[in-house]
Amino acid sequence: MPFSDLIGHERPKAILKASILHDRVAHAYLFHGEDSIGKKQAAQLFAQAINCDTDYGPSGPDACGACRSCLQIESRTHPDFLLIEPDQEQANPQIKIEQVREIEEQIIYRPLIGRRKICLIDEADRLTQGAANALLKTLEEPAAHSLFLLITSRPAALPATVRSRCQSIRFVPPARTQVEAALITKREIPPADARFLAIATQARIGQALQAEVATLRAQQDEFFHLMSAQSLRSVTTILTAAEALHKSDRAPEALAWIERWVRDLILVGAGADQDSLLNLERLTELQELAGTLQLGLLLDLLMELESIQRSSTRNLNLQMVLENILLRLRDATLTAG
Ligand SMILES: [Zn+2]
Repeated sequence: MPFSDLIGHERPKAILKASILHDRVAHAYLFHGEDSIGKKQAAQLFAQAINCDTDYGPSGPDACGACRSCLQIESRTHPDFLLIEPDQEQANPQIKIEQVREIEEQIIYRPLIGRRKICLIDEADRLTQGAANALLKTLEEPAAHSLFLLITSRPAALPATVRSRCQSIRFVPPARTQVEAALITKREIPPADARFLAIATQARIGQALQAEVATLRAQQDEFFHLMSAQSLRSVTTILTAAEALHKSDRAPEALAWIERWVRDLILVGAGADQDSLLNLERLTELQELAGTLQLGLLLDLLMELESIQRSSTRNLNLQMVLENILLRLRDATLTAG
């Protein structure tokens, strides 16, 4: 597929294409931005465009998607396209020093068929200290034909020394309307479902393309019940629900839905346009709460929920986290007495 098929990311696409056109491709890039918005796809397209066998047209360098080189990069069989990713089998997935060493041994050789020998490092924030140090040495003295593409949604977790060796390309989620349009075309779903998915995933196109509408709608109903004023009034109900959800490994799901509800409450409280709300079917409930909710507490709560999403939940006691979040939601939405 060509760059134009990648939803959004106009700035990164323009920069990357221009760097090929003017022969200014750096030796290392850091593609950073939220999860599931197209960073890895952009990196693959960039690699394909650099090594594409087809002459490009008036729109500039691109990946034709059909030549041998493009197809081999897509199927991960290209001899000059190397991929490092964390071992997902591990409890705490990491990129180990051995993985970096293996690449180092290959990257020093000239490309076999392409113009550049390219190494894509996905979830680069998962490099161990040792692996990051080994990579740093390679980045400090890169082979002329080598190109490293590091991808991360947590750039701050990478050593500053590694970051400083990379050209930084920031990715932001595409506009909601772009995601909706893509969903309607690619998934052939009704506009109402496209809108629902685009808002529920916060325009994370990767998630929106995969998510099951029916499953999400069912979860929405279920968790709405948990967050209704009626449930929140009883502390016992909150504690029982938190325990049950934790035991069935559904605490992360519950937290995601609470975050979506809190976002809607804030939007209603701040007088935003109805079109921005996810829970449009619950407009009456949202508006009823609008008069009494405490916007400051909800904003604090949203910040906390976002920080939980960003952190690895592995080390958290999710039952306690969920209890605490629900009690705070109760404080922020229910008037005293
Ligand atoms: Zn091609």
